[in-house]
Amino acid sequence: MSGGPSRLPEGALASALSQQTERLSHCVHCGFCLPACPTYTRLGDEADSPRGRLHLMGAVVEGRLDPASEAFQLHMDRCLGCRACESVCPSGVEYGFLLERAREVAVSARQPSLVQRLLLGLIQRPALFLPWMWMSRLLRWSRIPALLGRGEAGAGRPGPLRLGAAMLAASAPPSLRVASFTGTRVQDREGEASGEPRGEVALLTGCVQDQLFRRVNQASRRVLAANGWTVVEVAGQGCCGALHAHGGRLSQAREMARRNLAAFQSAKPRYIVNNAAGCGAMMREYHELLGEDARELSHRVVDISSLLAGEGRRPRVGDPLAMTVTYDAPCHLLHAQAVSGVGEALLASIPELELRPLQRAEECCGGAGIYGITHPELGGEIGMDKARAVIASGADVLATGNPGCMMQIGAHLRLLGSEIQVVHPIELLDESYRSAGLYES
Ligand code: SF4
Ligand code: SF4
Repeated sequence: MSGGPSRLPEGALASALSQQTERLSHCVHCGFCLPACPTYTRLGDEADSPRGRLHLMGAVVEGRLDPASEAFQLHMDRCLGCRACESVCPSGVEYGFLLERAREVAVSARQPSLVQRLLLGLIQRPALFLPWMWMSRLLRWSRIPALLGRGEAGAGRPGPLRLGAAMLAASAPPSLRVASFTGTRVQDREGEASGEPRGEVALLTGCVQDQLFRRVNQASRRVLAANGWTVVEVAGQGCCGALHAHGGRLSQAREMARRNLAAFQSAKPRYIVNNAAGCGAMMREYHELLGEDARELSHRVVDISSLLAGEGRRPRVGDPLAMTVTYDAPCHLLHAQAVSGVGEALLASIPELELRPLQRAEECCGGAGIYGITHPELGGEIGMDKARAVIASGADVLATGNPGCMMQIGAHLRLLGSEIQVVHPIELLDESYRSAGLYES
């Protein structure tokens, strides 16, 4: 691990990590986080564990390790950023915060991969991002990705073309043909939520979410309205910056955060609702990027499942959906936002829907933003494990609340030849409401 004299980059970037010695010192090296870390459990290398990575960060700060060294670059890059280590850490180590600062130092010392630079560059520039998304939707509509991305159990690791095709196909609207609707109407019962006015909320429409999963945004607006929330449209909002922050491009993430701060501060909704867990986690931490001015806004950010089914609330009841569903909590809801049980509670509110347990549901799916694309080998292995667990649950449908997870798990289910549909939980509630006639004016 030795790397000679410190080559921590000069100025602001150096201070981004070197100012964190206090936060780094919280790690007491107990190792409780090791079994929770998907990269450590698969690779068995201490340097690919949270404790090992924190040790490497400390070595860079103290000048014992060159940030351009292979050891620092490789092990920072291999981290999923899933933050499962935070959930089990008895010392409250803010690992996600530290990782982003470490990556900022890493990418300033050495260029990251071309694929990573290309993807983040595209997302940041609407003039390139929007045509790319338009072409992706056109391709998805052609059904070519659905054919190319289909595999079978026992087939080898897919090449980039098949993996990309499977991911794009997994973003297509579900057919839900496995569902059988009983047609029994369930009327609102006393004490349950109804459409009575609650207040104004705004929806973060996002980047990929708005382009490939617009149906989820539309379903979110309908479901919120059916539960009494007035959804105000906020002009000037954009990408939350999460992918850039996770990749160590904190100055670009800050720019995106500033734009959203200005847009949502002028609209002043009671809550800023997120239906993508990664974006929600990012917005809830805007104050870490922008300082105290953003803290009040960060506190108003809430995941849609939390708003509808958190803290003992029950969403309005729709028609029964007689189907078997398993739920995978996105890491950025479960670990980064420390919110648990709300997705399951939301699904449990749908009459006749049978919720099946998912083994190792707390583990990352390997999607982790763009990790599934930039690290197809390790991301693919983790994705296959998740897909196999979904199949073993015996459910017809997998529900999860993050576009990256929907594409990663959906892709690996397809690559295994599975017909299991992947949906956002809000799509099921929406279907239940539609069937109940709640949207009829
Ligand atoms: S659980 Fe926390 S304190 Fe213990 S080794 Fe892991 S990061 Fe350090
Ligand atoms: S964020 Fe996830 S992959 Fe990275 S060290 Fe923590 S548990 Fe391991």
